[in-house]
Amino acid sequence: MTQAAMRLGITGGIGSGKSTVCALLADKGIPVIDADAISRACTAPGGAALPAIAQAFGDAVFEAPGILNRDAMRALVFDQPQARAQLQALLHPMIAVEIERQASQAALASPPCIAFDIPLLVESKRWRTVLDRVLVVDCQAQTQIDRVMQRSGLTAESVQKIMAAQSTRAARLQCADYVLFNESVTIDEIGQQLAAIFPFLEISSRHWKNSA
Ligand code: ADP
Repeated sequence: MTQAAMRLGITGGIGSGKSTVCALLADKGIPVIDADAISRACTAPGGAALPAIAQAFGDAVFEAPGILNRDAMRALVFDQPQARAQLQALLHPMIAVEIERQASQAALASPPCIAFDIPLLVESKRWRTVLDRVLVVDCQAQTQIDRVMQRSGLTAESVQKIMAAQSTRAARLQCADYVLFNESVTIDEIGQQLAAIFPFLEISSRHWKNSA
């Protein structure tokens, strides 16, 4: 009989390096469940959330019937906190169901850990109740801005607006069981920090799949 996988939530502000950390964990064979990807699928053409979005926000956030206008939706939720809360209340239960479906699937391989990449983990308290531990990927605000400008070509002002809509660095750190400080470190060094926090990463995925 194998032990249940540790459910590890991973979060961080935009540009903190959360995806980079998740990719390193996935490289080590840790299943990573991506809440953002699930959220995008719910709002893609034919997505499960579209009827409820149409009912809540009307045609103004649609390009055509069944096709969400992401720019319009994004603008609305950045400008109106109430619309943001409404969208989240609508999406979160759907995302949660799909997350649990993927987690059950991942558990079949008996990994030591299942990682849950959840950008809004801090903002939405319900996620924490279904996680054993939380890893916060952290860096300075200016580093977030620099990285996102370089990655996506957004202006500093746009990045700051996104950051202002996310939880504060202090609130995020308060939720952390582990903090990975991704500042002036190489990708290899991040891997070393992860291995120091999670010794099971040294065990190859072949081992736990065989011992399941
Ligand atoms: P997030 O998922 O938190 O938005 P990413 O992991 O996508 O952040 O990182 C943002 C950008 O910064 C990416 O282009 C990534 O390659 C780069 N990056 C992240 N961490 C480092 C690092 N330690 N050194 C160099 N580049 C990094």
